[in-house]
Amino acid sequence: MSTYNTIRSSRFCSRSISRHYTHESLRCSSSTAGSSPRTLLSQLFLPTAKEVHEGTSKHTGQSHRLMIRAGLIRQSSSGIFSFLPFGLRSLRKVEKIIDEEMESIGAQKLSLPILLNANSWRQTGRWETVGSELFRLKDRKQSEFCLAPTHEEEITLLVAEEISSYRQLPLRLYQIGEYNHAYGQGRKYRDEMRPRSGLLRGREFMMKDLYTFDKTEEASMNTYEEVVDAYKRIFSRIGLPYVVAEADTGNIGGTTSHEFHFQSEAGEDVVFSCSNCGYMANEERAYGIKAGDLCTRCSADIPITSSRAIEVGHTFLLGTKYSSVLKAEFTPEDPVTPGERRPMQMGCYGLGLSRIVAAIVETSHDEHGIVWPFSVAPYRVCIVPGLKDVKVSDTVERLYDMLNDKKELKGEIVIDDRMGFSLGHRLKDAELVGYSWIIVLGKNFLEGGKIEVQDRKTRQKNYIEIDSVGDYVVNEYS
Ligand SMILES: [Zn+2]
Repeated sequence: MSTYNTIRSSRFCSRSISRHYTHESLRCSSSTAGSSPRTLLSQLFLPTAKEVHEGTSKHTGQSHRLMIRAGLIRQSSSGIFSFLPFGLRSLRKVEKIIDEEMESIGAQKLSLPILLNANSWRQTGRWETVGSELFRLKDRKQSEFCLAPTHEEEITLLVAEEISSYRQLPLRLYQIGEYNHAYGQGRKYRDEMRPRSGLLRGREFMMKDLYTFDKTEEASMNTYEEVVDAYKRIFSRIGLPYVVAEADTGNIGGTTSHEFHFQSEAGEDVVFSCSNCGYMANEERAYGIKAGDLCTRCSADIPITSSRAIEVGHTFLLGTKYSSVLKAEFTPEDPVTPGERRPMQMGCYGLGLSRIVAAIVETSHDEHGIVWPFSVAPYRVCIVPGLKDVKVSDTVERLYDMLNDKKELKGEIVIDDRMGFSLGHRLKDAELVGYSWIIVLGKNFLEGGKIEVQDRKTRQKNYIEIDSVGDYVVNEYS
């Protein structure tokens, strides 16, 4: 029986009954009462590839090539990508962490349109100042629109319309790419001159953007601090080292701005830092400073060092730049003159969702493939049956169910049942895709009875009694 037929046959019967891996083939058999369906790799859409022959060069980094090889994304056209199921799972995990941390500071989720009328952009002057990176288009009546690269105008007009009193403030609203909508709100567009490095600099990208509205400047500064803290928690939970640098406000405007970066040789940004006082700034902000200069902040005899980085988040304290122009005003509690209206103090805060996923791959891989942090791996465990054997297949199923009972691993396990491929081929694939744990049941298991558990990060193999595998795998990451 060919691999193709095997996969077809297991697909046919997977709908109505539980998926069941057996040693003979990948056929389905009726499930035992109460066992949940198991996730079999033969039934998933994971088009891994040996090599990618695309215009990727050394200085654009490895993430693009790795994400294509590991079957996470495919390019549709220059700078525009499809997320495949495994890539989308990681993206969703990043999104969930962001949602939880946004909720923890009282931010509410909404969804703004992608296609925006030019009028509000004209009011703020950005229709002219943003330039050719803005995707512009006309409808059949010749009205001008743009594909949103950001939503300051849209949200400010919305809030101006609906909020009128100090009693309704503060307000924190955010949005994220929503895949269950036909046109994915939360996606953003930028007509890059030279799209490159895959998702690191694409023309369509996914953002989390938060907008805050406060009564006073002081309150908006407190909000700013709270959001920066929430961002720190988000990156800590993702589990990779990050830095926060002072930044320029650019065409967004405002007074205070910070950037969040993953440090990476493949990054397009440069950050300057002082190891003594912790001062850290991006290139534009630290204009005139170069590596080797002495720090002017702390005046210590410490030279400034520079490193390359990938920007993954950006925070702006906007003041009243948008609220004044677009009349997002409220009646204050303490009016100085009768009928006084004050502009709201605003902040805007972005996280590059699709870029975070690419930046994770860029900063966390080795020559064998991706090394996902446990928090955002597409699946956390891959069980690989090494050979066709009744004892092996029974144990694979028992192990799957035992692991799936752990809350950290529920729905996070796949069985690589593609027995048409050699064990070596499947193990290479497992390292490429980057499951946190790769569990092999082969000759060693049949001879010694213990389970081979490999840590993807260290590539260390340990041989563990079946009853202890679950605790071992979870404890290593708690
Ligand atoms: Zn210093």
